[in-house]
Amino acid sequence: MIRLKYRDMKATEFSRSDVDKEKFYSLLGRELEKLKGLNLHRKIDFGLEKDGKLSGLPFTLKDSICSEGDPTYAGSKILEGYRPPFDATVVEKIKKAGGNIVAKTHQDEFAFGTGCTNCAFTTPKNPWDEERCCGGSSGGAAGMAAALDLPHINLGESTGGSISVPASFCGVVGLTPTYGVVSRYGLISFANSLDKIGPIARNVEDAALGLEVISGKDEMDQTTVESEGDYREALEEDISGMTIGLPRDYFEIADDEVSETVEKAVSELEQLGADVKKVKLEMTEAALPTYYIIAPAEASTNLAKFCGMRYGMEGELEGNFREYFSKIRGQGFGEEVKRRVMIGTYTRMAGYRDKYYIKALKVRRKIINDFKHVFKDVDILAAPTSPVIAPKIKELEEMPPVEQYKIDKLTAPINLAGMPQLSVPCGLNKKMPVGLHLMGNHFDEKKILKVGHAYEKQRGKINYPEVEDDG
Ligand code: GLN
Repeated sequence: MIRLKYRDMKATEFSRSDVDKEKFYSLLGRELEKLKGLNLHRKIDFGLEKDGKLSGLPFTLKDSICSEGDPTYAGSKILEGYRPPFDATVVEKIKKAGGNIVAKTHQDEFAFGTGCTNCAFTTPKNPWDEERCCGGSSGGAAGMAAALDLPHINLGESTGGSISVPASFCGVVGLTPTYGVVSRYGLISFANSLDKIGPIARNVEDAALGLEVISGKDEMDQTTVESEGDYREALEEDISGMTIGLPRDYFEIADDEVSETVEKAVSELEQLGADVKKVKLEMTEAALPTYYIIAPAEASTNLAKFCGMRYGMEGELEGNFREYFSKIRGQGFGEEVKRRVMIGTYTRMAGYRDKYYIKALKVRRKIINDFKHVFKDVDILAAPTSPVIAPKIKELEEMPPVEQYKIDKLTAPINLAGMPQLSVPCGLNKKMPVGLHLMGNHFDEKKILKVGHAYEKQRGKINYPEVEDDG
């Protein structure tokens, strides 16, 4: 009965006076317990925060976002036992606005992956089909958005597509902001020039609220800029007269059925008065190899601090430092982490640096220019978020790494450009969700949000899978 009352209630409506916070939180506690395949650390002291604009709204955090005193492992055994003595800036902002951190969600180890099969703890199952993955690396966050039908917001993080891809696989909304709109202070870094924290929610309005709360300039992260403030402001604006570009090659790369589903969604945007035109992006094919050079190069330096002395896992102090360092990392890191350390170290080694890392930086500049050029002609771009629907967990586990990397083909380019993206569910293929990817120029969050919101209204309600009630 009470669950019914909150079912489909938006996060933006949570401050309504008829919400009985005590009852709500006891229900939430039970629901989170049921969803333990998606989240590793639940907080039972839900601290009934009633003040502030969020009025106690629950938030979950990807496991790589630090919150004071809470286990924060970034999906890795090497961080088991680590409890940060501080809050990430996004967490501080949520708490200040009266939000409540209630759980940490599963992810790929250090965010390396596309289906959470690289998580050291468990691989979250897709609520639409338990044999399939939730996507990665913010898989637990997207699974949570799909399965928890109570008002809440999940924070994920994207380096090369880790918000959009899982949002698309789980049929929820993922918002990746422009690089620098949200502070990275307190995020366990993957690749500093690419990482972006962003909200994953059940609808566009809630995602906009999430960004509103966490964005803004932060003296602890010198790459941040002032927030645009109210990201919900433009949601109801008319989209007629806007020009939407369709990058032709994105539709060719995606599976036919996925492209067809997205094309149907685009025709709905046309019905709403948007002008649609095909565009050509020249650098799409170059993006994946560029991403898989730059991201591991940065990651391999970031991972050097996990040496078994400062955070998490510790071992017997035997041998010299090199021996200890190798032994502890040999035990604490998973296979994909070791692979990325090796790739990243190799590509920025003296002798190879010019050939790989420096060259990749130059290509990255060309990719940015490619997008900038296209945004002279169109307001936003629309394409499939991912070339495929959520793969089966077993398939993904058996897939060679390079094949897995290809799932990022449509999200790597825009992530390298540091431009904002919004994945909105737009239909089903083989009974699994497909995502419509709306991409904008730097700081054009409001444009993609208003198109996403208009589309969502036109599309109508999603019938999310019923999660087993065993209690
Ligand atoms: N799948 C990509 C990778 O493995 C992206 C991950 C991410 O965005 N964190 O690197």
